[in-house]
Amino acid sequence: PKKKRAQVEDHRISVSVRKRPFNDKELKVKDIDVITIPSKDVVMVHESKQKVDRTPFIKNHTFRFDRAFDDSATNEMVYRSTARPLVETIFEGGMATCFAYGQTGSGKTHTMAGDFSGKNQDCSKGIYALAAEDVFLMLKEPEYKKLDLQVYAAFSEIYNEKVFDLLNQKAKLSVLDDGKKQTHVVGLQEREVKCTEDILKLIRMGNSCRATGQNAVNAHSSRSHAIFDIILRSKGKLHGKFSLIDLAGSERAADTCTTNGQTQKEGVKINESLLTLKECIRALNLKAPHAPFRDSLLTRILKNSLVGENSRTCMIVTISPGMASSQSTLDTLRFADRVK
Ligand code: ADP
Ligand code: MG
Repeated sequence: PKKKRAQVEDHRISVSVRKRPFNDKELKVKDIDVITIPSKDVVMVHESKQKVDRTPFIKNHTFRFDRAFDDSATNEMVYRSTARPLVETIFEGGMATCFAYGQTGSGKTHTMAGDFSGKNQDCSKGIYALAAEDVFLMLKEPEYKKLDLQVYAAFSEIYNEKVFDLLNQKAKLSVLDDGKKQTHVVGLQEREVKCTEDILKLIRMGNSCRATGQNAVNAHSSRSHAIFDIILRSKGKLHGKFSLIDLAGSERAADTCTTNGQTQKEGVKINESLLTLKECIRALNLKAPHAPFRDSLLTRILKNSLVGENSRTCMIVTISPGMASSQSTLDTLRFADRVK
């Protein structure tokens, strides 16, 4: 029997953009703000260019998305119109996916995991915790209470086409395909969670695990995808799953590679998985018969969540405000424009 759903037909991915505020470093060097959000679904990039005779001029680029948030938006506001509607999907027995996509330093982790820097008085919650909070609230609603659901969380990372468990000291996990062409991550730990504080502990634990053994968090996270899963089970059986993904940095491999051959190789790989993701989402939107899910580990693992008739997806595109980032920002927005 098919379950009822609020928006039955609309399977198109929703794409929203979020501009972050200037940071201290950008303020110090007096970087110029080149991004404007003239209405709640339009973002403009004002690019400085020169004519052949070197006369400077401004080229304006306009992009339209489902929503555009300026630098005054809070995580809570972004969450409300992106991931929030998808919480219902998992209660109705579906699969939901939310991606954060953007250049390294543009605010993906701030948006998804929240701010644990301690700079803010109490840590500001990100989308992982805000979604979990709503899950705990909805569990109490009479129509869902009778399903007797338990909530679990898992936190993993894909780095260099391998999966690691961020809740189990970065154990390397194997990936297996079953007879039905479904991909399983074997041995990924799921922790039962009862309240938001449980979730916050796991986020903290996973995030610090993500950074260990690396020189800089950003150097590592720019190349890896972090996947936070909120899983609903009924008597052990999977009911619904929300995968929240902090993607690798959107900057081109050419920007990130060093003279070190290893770094360059990793950079190229990551680029491939983001390009594969784009092709897969486009194919789904266009209802094309074939999508290249097999071409990267990220898309193999997510295939089951993305293709079902009861699946819903959103993408939050994070951008930096400054002129120093404008080329990368344009690349990011063009990519996002291609998946909507
Ligand atoms: P990314 O994960 O995309 O590399 P981060 O989330 O780590 O970027 O953000 C880089 C820095 O900018 C962090 O210090 C973060 O706290 C800050 N930052 C990002 N977005 C915001 C925002 N919307 N408001 C305030 N600070 C932000
Ligand atoms: Mg990050």
